[in-house]
Amino acid sequence: MIYVIGTGPGLEDYMSLRAIEAVKDSDIIIGYKTYINQIKGLLKDKEVYSAGMKKEIDRCKKALEYALQGKKVGLVSGGDAGVYGMAGIMQEIALEHSKKVQIEVIPGITAANAAAASLGAPIMHDYTVISLSDLLTEWSLIEKRLECAGQGDFVIALYNPKSNGRREHIQKARDILLEYKDKNIPVGIVRNAKREKEEIEITTLEKMCESEINMSTMIIIGNSKTYVANGRMITPRGYKY
Ligand code: SAH
Repeated sequence: MIYVIGTGPGLEDYMSLRAIEAVKDSDIIIGYKTYINQIKGLLKDKEVYSAGMKKEIDRCKKALEYALQGKKVGLVSGGDAGVYGMAGIMQEIALEHSKKVQIEVIPGITAANAAAASLGAPIMHDYTVISLSDLLTEWSLIEKRLECAGQGDFVIALYNPKSNGRREHIQKARDILLEYKDKNIPVGIVRNAKREKEEIEITTLEKMCESEINMSTMIIIGNSKTYVANGRMITPRGYKY
């Protein structure tokens, strides 16, 4: 049995009851060390296998190996495991053992939802999620999706906006979106959403690259109707009141 557990944005309070139950029911917990640390309060007396970043395939193979031995494995993944997380690769790797290994994917609160709640209500209307990481996706395709999202006047949630290796992607993304969106459109920047050191900023599309943006940052770019009032970023759904 493998539970693929979305652990939410960080604080334990934002995990689902089912996710907590699955952690408790697991014989061994496998995950990236940052996510393991976030739930360490639940891991007393648990066997833990943690491997570094970019070792996703190793972790999944380990999970499969233990599950085939008859253990209950909890594979943890931050936010929602099905959003740039471990749910896909785990199921791909286990495909040929599908009769022997049962997999349950447990959803978690993804960073876009966590950040949106902290900002107000910026994703009240059609929105799209784009990762700026080109580790597994061609940059040209990311650019095309940015263009399409800009054309469609979507609210846009940007994942993986920056890492040490890729400092210029966020600027390129902003420049593409400036072709379609007004430069004063509100942009919400949330570092460490729903974690202890959460930081929230509201700026504009033109100025967004002046803010601190790192790999624990979620960026939410408004649509043409999004506004800021009372320190909150709101995208109207269209109600008349
Ligand atoms: N599966 C995760 C996303 C993994 S991709 C989820 O559903 O949230 C990693 C990226 O997610 C980070 O670079 C960052 O952009 C974003 N992220 C994850 N947790 C975050 C948090 N608590 N606050 C802000 N951004 C976060």
